[in-house]
Amino acid sequence: MATSPEVVREELAAVTAAASADLAAQAAAASSAQALDSLLETLPLIVPPYYDAAGLLAVAWYDEIREESAPLTAYVPDVIGDPSTDWIEREIAKLQRSVEADIEEQMQRLVDETMRLAEKEVARGFRESIVGNTRQDEDAIGWSRVARPSACKFCLMLAAKGAVFSKETAIFAAHTDCHCAARPEFRGGTHGPEASVVQYVASSRRAKTEAAQAARNERLRAYLNQHYPDAPG
Ligand SMILES: [Zn+2]
Repeated sequence: MATSPEVVREELAAVTAAASADLAAQAAAASSAQALDSLLETLPLIVPPYYDAAGLLAVAWYDEIREESAPLTAYVPDVIGDPSTDWIEREIAKLQRSVEADIEEQMQRLVDETMRLAEKEVARGFRESIVGNTRQDEDAIGWSRVARPSACKFCLMLAAKGAVFSKETAIFAAHTDCHCAARPEFRGGTHGPEASVVQYVASSRRAKTEAAQAARNERLRAYLNQHYPDAPG
């Protein structure tokens, strides 16, 4: 009886696994930077003998099954076709290009993020100069926040009514994307009211404990959602 398809399949799997092991050894012998090149180079040497081995398996099985059919003619099956590894090279080159594009994309993201952070840092120079000077200038009563209409809930709340932050404890919390500015406020100038409790709490340093900070965040979040439902953040 001819060998069962299951057994033939196993034999074929053994051949392909052996080819794969040979190629893996080739790749492992090279440095990781060279692994792909080394592999592609040896592909045309390693693949053909395994192609033939697989072909011979097929031929033997073909023969067995043919014999069982009591054929009327004589026929000697042969290994058909030649192995070609050119297409593998083409496929890999294609893949390689997409991988490179992806690396470039990720690199671009890092570049963009770096520039975003750099902009934030540059803007700090403006802000700190305003805030710092109002603390030294006897005519200054503090500073207020100038937020863009597109700023987040948090920033809009802090900027509301042109509120003046006069206490030393108030810090200018800045978001990378809100681009808020600080405006100096003077005793004799036109300025908004003193910042409200909520505004002060939101602009004070982190609470001493995590639990206290979490509770503060929660209250603030509820306030922001209620008063600035349409703003982002
Ligand atoms: Zn903001």
